[in-house]
Amino acid sequence: MRHPLSSEPMTDSSSPRLAVLRLGHRRERDKRITSHLGLTARAFGADEVILSGEEDPSALETWNSVTERFGGDFECRYETKPMGWLRQFSKSGTVIHLTMYGEPWRETVESIPRDTPTVVVVGGTKVPGELFRIADHNVSIGNQPHSEVAALAIFLESWVGALDESTRFAGGEIEVVPSERAKRVRNSTEE
Ligand code: SAM
Repeated sequence: MRHPLSSEPMTDSSSPRLAVLRLGHRRERDKRITSHLGLTARAFGADEVILSGEEDPSALETWNSVTERFGGDFECRYETKPMGWLRQFSKSGTVIHLTMYGEPWRETVESIPRDTPTVVVVGGTKVPGELFRIADHNVSIGNQPHSEVAALAIFLESWVGALDESTRFAGGEIEVVPSERAKRVRNSTEE
């Protein structure tokens, strides 16, 4: 891992595992936002997204399909009892809850340890009050209500920092080649 202000990539194969837990997914209402949440978790440095609430194989299919095409070792799964899982996890790992009621992210990110397995929890429907007590850090990205996707992206960018995408997302079929004007990709299935 790296300090966010350093130029060294923070996540590498030796970094403690970083998961994102999506609470209270509603299959119809949250379809797109939950899908985008998992893709954002993957793109900004999480190793895993855990879905809870209503079961939704299509979300898992989307995340697996993107990982297969664009590379990396991102994992996803469904959790039937997220609060029980969190209680267990909190005994040895760090629980970060993103909530507009929490402490300002700019003042807290530096104090959140980077040397233990960590889960970042985001809500969908109203979250159980117990979550505020289980969490080691209740973190706000501003104190206004907005989107879990925006909150997650800003938090991960500030806490994880820059990624070395060529190693993190190795092994995919498609690699985007950054370009000023054109849409350039390397497609390993066509080579
Ligand atoms: N409708 C839900 C309710 O009844 O409270 C809340 C919806 S909110 C869009 C869903 C999630 O987005 C929250 O649980 C939280 O994780 C995240 N979120 C929204 N605004 C946030 C903020 N300002 N800071 C941090 N996280 C935020």
